[in-house]
Amino acid sequence: MKMSVENQSIIEKLDLLGCIQCGRCTGGCPVTVRTNLNVRRFVYDAYQASLEDLMEELAQYSEIWDCTGCHTCAVRCPKGLKPVEVLYSLRNQIVESGKVEPTVRDALESVFLEGNPWGKPKATRFDWMEGLEVKTAEEGQEVEYLFYVCCSVAYDPKLQVVAQNMVKILEKAGVDYAFLGEEESCCGSEVQALGEEELFMEVQEENVELFSSYPAKKIVTLSPHCLSALKKYEGLEAEVIHYTQLLAELIDEGKLSWEGEFPKKVVYHDPCYLGKQNEVYDEPRQVLKSVPGIELTEFDRSRERSLCCEGGGGKMWVETESQQERLAETRARNAKELEAQVIVCACPFCILTLDDAVKAVGYEEEMEVMEITEILGKVL
Ligand code: SF4
Ligand code: SF4
Repeated sequence: MKMSVENQSIIEKLDLLGCIQCGRCTGGCPVTVRTNLNVRRFVYDAYQASLEDLMEELAQYSEIWDCTGCHTCAVRCPKGLKPVEVLYSLRNQIVESGKVEPTVRDALESVFLEGNPWGKPKATRFDWMEGLEVKTAEEGQEVEYLFYVCCSVAYDPKLQVVAQNMVKILEKAGVDYAFLGEEESCCGSEVQALGEEELFMEVQEENVELFSSYPAKKIVTLSPHCLSALKKYEGLEAEVIHYTQLLAELIDEGKLSWEGEFPKKVVYHDPCYLGKQNEVYDEPRQVLKSVPGIELTEFDRSRERSLCCEGGGGKMWVETESQQERLAETRARNAKELEAQVIVCACPFCILTLDDAVKAVGYEEEMEVMEITEILGKVL
């Protein structure tokens, strides 16, 4: 068997020789029902083929781009491997060869030039703060909680309310917090998922330096995607947590409670990047249960079995071609079977995909998609 140095390093880095070809990764992969993606086969091919042969074949394998980065394959692998990273490595080789979709190229270029993948000007990143008294970090002055907002929350008009409500919640709880302000830039989560490892390393380096100027006991992310990315940073000293972990703690300590009621039946959708990747399952539920009047119900597929909404893994910039309905639409139908009035979530990408799905299946008159902080904003 011919094997190149690069391919050898993928095998070693990802420990692929430990694979027993049991197929549990493919068996659990949510997108195999919609596409031809067979992640077990890619793990096998990665140590069978030479890089040269692999590169020739890659062009035919458009399903490499169907992976949503949900990590179900990693959760299910009995050998502790991360099959998803084989796909990311292959994406990396495609990106390096320059053969990427224009949407992917534009998103990556935008991160490089403007610090966000949405093609928005850097200067408008903190327009969401307008009209609000927001504490921003001062160089060298330590705070307890430093907030990292996320590109999607900062720029998307549907999501800006997440950051705005978070400010109101923090003021109410009286905690020592600050937002990064104008210097915040992309975390690189989707950059890495799209295979641009070199740009991810640059983003990581810049962000680690930025965080060192604004010391904090904990960095709190609004998005689970930022949580996963920041936790990977080498050289970042502060602990990184998701906002639901902080709110659950504040509620537990009696520092946060609610004035109003939210008398609706809601179903919580576990974001893959929060649940499967970071094992944060209880805290979002704890926060929701603290809201007076709320009736919290569960999907049949919840927690580590949660059905992916297909919003991650760079999928915001790559369309999956399939005759089957989107997984987020299946999720909306499941919510209807439960007679839920609201699908509630704690991830910006899930909000966007589920919101589209609810409209696509025609439920928008009877069902809402809300971020946890949106509900909290109504009971503050
Ligand atoms: S689940 Fe793990 S051991 Fe089984 S085929 Fe997939 S990568 Fe190999
Ligand atoms: S990360 Fe999710 S979508 Fe990607 S291969 Fe693994 S199970 Fe499939």
